[in-house]
Amino acid sequence: MIAFTRCPECAGVMEWNSKLKMVVCLSCGLTVTRTELDRMWKEIRETNFEEIDDYDKKKDRKKDWLDWYQSSGKNK
Ligand SMILES: [Zn+2]
Repeated sequence: MIAFTRCPECAGVMEWNSKLKMVVCLSCGLTVTRTELDRMWKEIRETNFEEIDDYDKKKDRKKDWLDWYQSSGKNK
């Protein structure tokens, strides 16, 4: 079960909606299944693989990488 996760679109907080059986972004309203969410994050990771791999060596991936993604997303 997902307690909370980050939105791949806006990096906002996402919440598991057990009624819809989908994950809903509280910031932008993105609604995806867990499978879709996993796929979106996988694509992001693959796209940025080298940068993330380097970053991962320095800091805890799960928290700090998401912070990195959040800040980098604003500069697209
Ligand atoms: Zn969002």
